[in-house]
Amino acid sequence: MWVFLNDTFVESDKAVVSVFDHGFLYGDGIYETLRAYGGRVFMLQQHLARLHRSGHLIGLKFPLPDKDWPSLVKESMSRNRLHDAYIRITVSRGEGDIGLDPGLCRRPTVVILAQPLTPYPPHLFHEGVSLAVVQVRRNLPAALPPQIKSLNFLNNILAKQEALQAGAFDGIMLNATGDLTECTASNLFFVQHGCLCTPSIECGILDGITRSVVLMLAQQNGIAVEEGSYPAAALRQADECFLTNTTMEIMPVREVDRTSIGDGRPGPLTLKLRDLFHSHLARFLE
Ligand code: PLP
Repeated sequence: MWVFLNDTFVESDKAVVSVFDHGFLYGDGIYETLRAYGGRVFMLQQHLARLHRSGHLIGLKFPLPDKDWPSLVKESMSRNRLHDAYIRITVSRGEGDIGLDPGLCRRPTVVILAQPLTPYPPHLFHEGVSLAVVQVRRNLPAALPPQIKSLNFLNNILAKQEALQAGAFDGIMLNATGDLTECTASNLFFVQHGCLCTPSIECGILDGITRSVVLMLAQQNGIAVEEGSYPAAALRQADECFLTNTTMEIMPVREVDRTSIGDGRPGPLTLKLRDLFHSHLARFLE
């Protein structure tokens, strides 16, 4: 497998990063996950824009000109002869002496990985997944804004660990005031009385790109949408619930804290949005 590292493509066994890299030492860096369908990267510009926003928010200057990124992502796929691919761009602060000062690092480290997509097992889409509301709270935006897609993922990893220990597929994190935010690597939606509800950005979430596509499709198709603050108890009254992210697209949720959502099967609005999403994707691929 070919990996882009800093300024060139290398074989994966040569794609090594220094133990003095501040991404390794301190989680100082950012990343994006992208998905390609039939050789084309979905929402490429939006992912690159978010990568640059994350970089800007941590004061990281990109070592490559803006115009090079799309072609490097595409070359990562073509070199590996990939059509349906998982792509990860990582940019760390780079190699430097021990110490927190980013000025110790001369140049950010850039890695672009493209590998075959490992799809989620189909039964999860048919049956829906089980979630648990976890004790681990989502990072306080004033401490570490969720808008930074940071390499420091411990907040989410602790939440994931707790959810797995509870026998759930993933954990729903609440914010400091006890309102719903998101799961450890996906955005949360639920349906109540026909209205599609999702925690607003102000609740302290990553503004997921799949989330934005789902909101756009809902609005274009006359589905009532609400972005707001919701207590965890709102899920008990929900008729449907689903998650979104780049690799899973739209994933139905069958239960939260071992209580069924609706009749426990993917609901009509979830299925409709999934159809709309796939039609949108098909138009993009035309
Ligand atoms: N929320 C978090 C914390 C994430 O890490 C991700 C994706 O990795 C998402 C939401 C979903 O974002 P997207 O739809 O852009 O993949």
